[in-house]
This record gives sequence, structure tokens and C-alpha cells, in this order.
Amino acid sequence: MTRFIFVTGGVVSSLGKGIASASLGAILEARGLKVAMIKLDPYINVDPGTMSPFQHGEVFVTEDGTETDLDLGHYERFVHTTTGRHSNYTTGRIYETVIQKERRGDYLGGTVQVIPHITDEIKRSIHAGAGDADICLVEIGGTVGDIESLPFLEAIRQMGTELGSGHALFIHLTLVPFISASGEIKTKPTQHSVKELRSIGIQPDILICRGDRPLPPEERRKIALFTNVSERAVISAVDVEDIYQIPELLHRQALDQIVSERFGLELPPADLSDWRVVVEARHRQDGEVTVGLVGKYVDLSDAYLSLNEALKHAGIHTLTRVVVRYIDSERLETDGVSLLEGLDAILVPGGFGRRGIEGKIAAVQYAREQGVPYLGICLGMQLAVVELARHLAKLGEAHSTEFDPATPDPIIALITEWQQADGSVHQRSGREDLGGTMRLGGQPCRLMSDSLAHALYGRELIIERHRHRYEFNNRYRAALESQGMRISGWSADGRLVEIIELPDHPWFLGCQFHPEFTSTPRDGHPLFSGFIRAARLVRERRDQQAAPA
Ligand code: GLN
Repeated sequence: MTRFIFVTGGVVSSLGKGIASASLGAILEARGLKVAMIKLDPYINVDPGTMSPFQHGEVFVTEDGTETDLDLGHYERFVHTTTGRHSNYTTGRIYETVIQKERRGDYLGGTVQVIPHITDEIKRSIHAGAGDADICLVEIGGTVGDIESLPFLEAIRQMGTELGSGHALFIHLTLVPFISASGEIKTKPTQHSVKELRSIGIQPDILICRGDRPLPPEERRKIALFTNVSERAVISAVDVEDIYQIPELLHRQALDQIVSERFGLELPPADLSDWRVVVEARHRQDGEVTVGLVGKYVDLSDAYLSLNEALKHAGIHTLTRVVVRYIDSERLETDGVSLLEGLDAILVPGGFGRRGIEGKIAAVQYAREQGVPYLGICLGMQLAVVELARHLAKLGEAHSTEFDPATPDPIIALITEWQQADGSVHQRSGREDLGGTMRLGGQPCRLMSDSLAHALYGRELIIERHRHRYEFNNRYRAALESQGMRISGWSADGRLVEIIELPDHPWFLGCQFHPEFTSTPRDGHPLFSGFIRAARLVRERRDQQAAPA
């Protein structure tokens, strides 16, 4: 029978509940357990697919094609678990299910209420997400005290009682701030947060206390006393340079031991050796590259979370320090491509919407003409094709119909558009439903032999995750191939272009899928590692040229 660990947060948001949960998952896995991870999100959106990355960070896409919260990305980077449809539930989704059941008459004339109908649906969802795992970690989004998270907290409170202490455990993550004006560490916010949690019937078993410095014994004793948590279960989680140190940090304070004792489990010792390799790689890095990330969410690294992690992973696997420089694509339009000077590689990530598009195309052109390694992901691939069409194939007005529905050369378009025989009419009503109309999730792709992609992956068939509506228009295949573009990856049915390359360029690759979603610190990802290796060559060559003879 699965044992459940419920993780709540208090005091403030953004304490890293997702990373703490994922890190505990990693240690428990390293002790031989099968771990499942679930995120419950209190907002009303049915899924985060329609939410702006400005507000909620990136949308993470799972293998089964679900658009989910970015914490699921942490789960998959830390734990060998594949998340999916049953790993992320929002209030909106729970209500949607309950309302559908009510409309169908499933409640037999009863009055449908938050308790028990919503809470029962939450509990059913948690069990569905747990599957046959030994341990299921359930992270509740938001902060204790929020009105909207109450049904979730009530549901896990009930589960605690139903399952009993041998099968359910509560962890609360809080902030223990240092007030510099008085030079003191303050425990009161934590005391209040636990009080709030206890007022809804949940007594935490373990506290993870975030802070910028280790929790001194005196404060630990005080917190334990006021919150009714044993002293050794008050864990100190200090800020660290590298999130992949956190499993070790928590393990050193016996977090996994406390959990296994509480559940009465006899487990082998934790083997965290692969995490040590990941962490130590940073200290063995013997080169540095600067990658320009040309996007529109330049102030918010959460918007490109998986991408930043994937670049970091490539740094681990190529022993290269990867410095990411964010470049606002709109500024490229006003200030010109001189902003790109000195970069060792250029990456245009996925994206939606018209803003900054011409700046991204200018970045592609710069990378192509200057021989700078280029990786284009999803939109970044589509715009690479637009750039090649405009400047190599001399189709000056070529565009994606996403941005110019009336372009004479719809080189990127909806399949329904480019499959029209004459290709000239691509009018849309502009009122298409934006939820659930995308090509999503893991799709098999066949790599052409002798291509860069094939060399990097070292195999013919790969599966990568998608999230897009538009596709390369096959009617332009010959026009671009004759200009030196190589199509090196096709969907398994041979119909859709998945990867393009420029064999005459030092390293130029665009992929219609998102490799960042499958990159992990332990395994890295062949495309990102190849990209960073190419950037290193560029850098080393430049450094040599600059060195006095
Ligand atoms: N907006 C483009 C499309 O829908 C690309 C999407 C993306 O980059 N994820 O096809």
C-alpha cells in the first residue's frame, strides 16, 4: 500500500516547495523506493496551458501531452518518474469533473458540496496519481492561509486520518528570516504558519525551514517547542548555489531516515553517488561559454526554467561553465544585432505571439552568417526556416501564418492551411479555441543517417515532446533543400518535419520539439551537450585569435 507525504508551504510563496519535494523524492528513490509525485494547484484554470509565463512561469509538458505546472519539471529532473495527466490537478479541473458528474446525475439528487464532493474528488485524484508507487509525494501549491487552498488542505487532512500515521505524513515548508536591523533570526512567522495549519486540523510531522543561514540550535529548539514537532524533525534548508545539492543537504539531516522510521520501513542506505557526480562537475569545469537566449521574457528566468536547467545540464556533461545572457528580442529590432556580438552561441526558444518576432529572425540571420552555433527550439526552428526562406530562397515575404496570415509564402502554417492544393488561402476566423488544440507530448521522430542529429543522439528513433500548432509547410521542401537546408528528422509517419540543419554551418539545428523537457542533470541531453561543445570550439578559436602571437 502506498504511503503518502503531503508537503504544504507557509509564510511566503516561492520557498522552493517543488525542489524540496523533488529532492526528498530523489533520496527516497536512492533508498530503493518507487516514488510518485503529484502537484495540486489551487487556481481555477483547468490547466496552466493558457497561463502567461509572465504570471506562472513556464508550462511544463509531460510525455502524455499534459500541460502542467513547472514543478513537474523539477520532479522529472530529480526522480526517475514519468509524470503525466494524473500528476497535476488544479481546482478548476477538480470542479470540472465534479460538475460533469453532477450534470450526468451521478449524485442522485444530492446537494453537491465542497465537503464531501470536492474533497472526495481530490482524494480520488491523489490515489489515481499515486498508482502503484511505494511513496507518493503530494505538494500543495500556494501558502497555508489562502482561501483557495482550503479544499485541498481539508482533503489531505482527511487522508491523514483515514490512512493513519503509518501511511501518511505531513511536511511543512516555512521561512525563518534573518532580520539584519536587529541581527536576529526570527521564528515567529513559522510559529504562526504552523498555528494556521493546526487550526485546520493538520499537525506537521516535519518542518523544513528555509533561510539564508543555518538554523542555530536555540532557534531549532524554540520552533520544535512551539510547533509540537520533534527537534530532529526541524530541518534547516539554507540557500545553496546549486539546487542539485539539496538531496545531499536534506539527507545529511536525516530527513529520509525520519520518514522511513515513521513509516516503519527497513531500507538500504541512500546511494546518492550520482548526485555527487552532478554537484562536483561544477568544480571540474575547465572552460566557459556565453549563450545568448533571445526571447521575450527576459526578466523572468522561471519562464524558461527547463531551458536554463538543460543548459546547466549540458555544462555538467561537457564540463563547461555556461553563462546565459538574456537578450530581449524587441531590443534587437530597435538597437540592432550588435547586441549579439561576443556570444559563443545563440538560442531562440519556443514562444507564442507576434512580439519581438523580427528580432528573433535577425538573431537567426546573424548566427547563420557569422557561423555562430544556433539552436532553435519550436518557434526558434520555425523562425530559422522563415529566415532561410527569406534570405536564401529569396522568398522575401515568407512567414508563419501565425504572424502574417496573408503571407504569399506560408512556409510555416497550420496543416489545414498548407495542405490546401493552391496554398493561397489561409484565412482564419481568429476565434479558434486556444485550449486543447495543440500537438502535444511525446512523439516519435526518425533521424536521417549522416546527420548532425543522428550523430548526437546515436540512434535512429527518438521520442521528444511537442507543444505547438504550426508546422513546416512541406510544399517548400525543395525550395529550401536546394539552398542547403537539410531535413534530418521526420515524424515517424514521415509527414511532418521535426529537425532541420545547415550542414555547411559549424552547428545550426532547429527542432520542432522541446528537448529541454527531457534533459536531466544525471543524463543531460544530446542536443544541448552538442550545442555547448560547438560553442566551446567557437570560443576557443576566438580566444586563440585574440591571444598575442
Ligand atoms: N507558436 C508556435 C506554434 O504554435 C510555436 C510554439 C512553441 O514554440 N512552443 O506552433
